[in-house]
Amino acid sequence: MRKKYWDDIPVYEQPSAEELRRRAMVSASAAKKRGQALEPVEAKTERGEVCTTWWGQAWCANLERYADYATRLDRGKRYIRLGTVVDLKIHKGRIEARVQGTRRAPYKIEIRISPLSEEKCQRIIDQCGKKIKNLEDLVYGRFPEDLKELFSEEDGLFPKPTEISFICSCPDWALMCKHVAAVMYGIGVRFDENPFYFFELRGIDVDRFIDVTLENKVESMLANADCKSDRIIDDSQTLAIFGF
Ligand SMILES: [Zn+2]
Repeated sequence: MRKKYWDDIPVYEQPSAEELRRRAMVSASAAKKRGQALEPVEAKTERGEVCTTWWGQAWCANLERYADYATRLDRGKRYIRLGTVVDLKIHKGRIEARVQGTRRAPYKIEIRISPLSEEKCQRIIDQCGKKIKNLEDLVYGRFPEDLKELFSEEDGLFPKPTEISFICSCPDWALMCKHVAAVMYGIGVRFDENPFYFFELRGIDVDRFIDVTLENKVESMLANADCKSDRIIDDSQTLAIFGF
């Protein structure tokens, strides 16, 4: 048989949407058989915004306002809606994910986010301490609505591109490939599910944060009480304020 010069050149064919979906399902069931616990991301919308809550949408809006990202993110929207993000786990300051692509095995993605500065952490503590309602929310596992203010201001709490680094096992990752872009939206979907992931993402220990916030508040309340009268608030009264 005559040997052709071009035989050795690989052909990169983009798989169709159906093919990607099928591969993602095969990868997920193979991982399950190996005993790996995957946490897939399910986008709830078919067009427009990927996220459905204020927190998820604010996360996406933050990313989309950076010129470096804007042109690259769009492909991620399509990708996440195809169910290709077969796994996404948020750890302290780090996201680990797997995204189904052209190759049989899903690509591995890692995104790192710098911890929040001391000063910004303090802003959250102060904002939470402003109202008893915020503290109550924290104690009962609800993300305080009042924090929206801090997220939407100019120098908000979501990270800037200089605070984000990423890597993907595909050959095209350096300028944010579609796999990384899909994971970026996936993080927004996680915020839809539970905005407390924000603390995890920015390196804040949630339980410790809540303890410190409550202690600060109780201390300032006691200090105020001392000034106004001789009345002593004992521990049981303090706890009663928070409904215990
Ligand atoms: Zn990639």
